[in-house]
Amino acid sequence: MMKDCLFCKIAKKEIPSDIVYEDEDFISFKDINPIAPLHLLIVPKKHIPSINHLTPEDKELIGRLFLVAKKIAKEQGVAERGYRLIFNVGKEGGQAIEHLHLHLLGGKTLSWSKY
Ligand code: 5GP
Ligand code: ZN
Repeated sequence: MMKDCLFCKIAKKEIPSDIVYEDEDFISFKDINPIAPLHLLIVPKKHIPSINHLTPEDKELIGRLFLVAKKIAKEQGVAERGYRLIFNVGKEGGQAIEHLHLHLLGGKTLSWSKY
């Protein structure tokens, strides 16, 4: 738990969010500024700032993060239609919140630009 971290606060329910899934190690909630009909954030409760900060110790947690993503996709009805999972990393990667989170986007045909 990092004192001034927004997603640590959301994980501890100190800040409200629209929660769609929770277990001992993860919480998933709706993005406040959705860019697709379904836009969820899947967040490990452990404060890891970004993918750049992962250590071998996090191996199992990150594996389970994908299993949680798969489960949520199914529960939310997008598993068969398709969806997209994204990690933004650092400044040029568009990461605004420095607590690792996986974006789950779906509910429409997602475009893929050349950037
Ligand atoms: P990033 O740009 O760091 O990959 O993604 C951060 C995401 O968090 C953004 O899509 C943004 O809309 C979302 N976000 C920022 N603040 C809040 C908040 O207070 N509540 C929720 N539910 N989402 C937030
Ligand atoms: Zn945090």
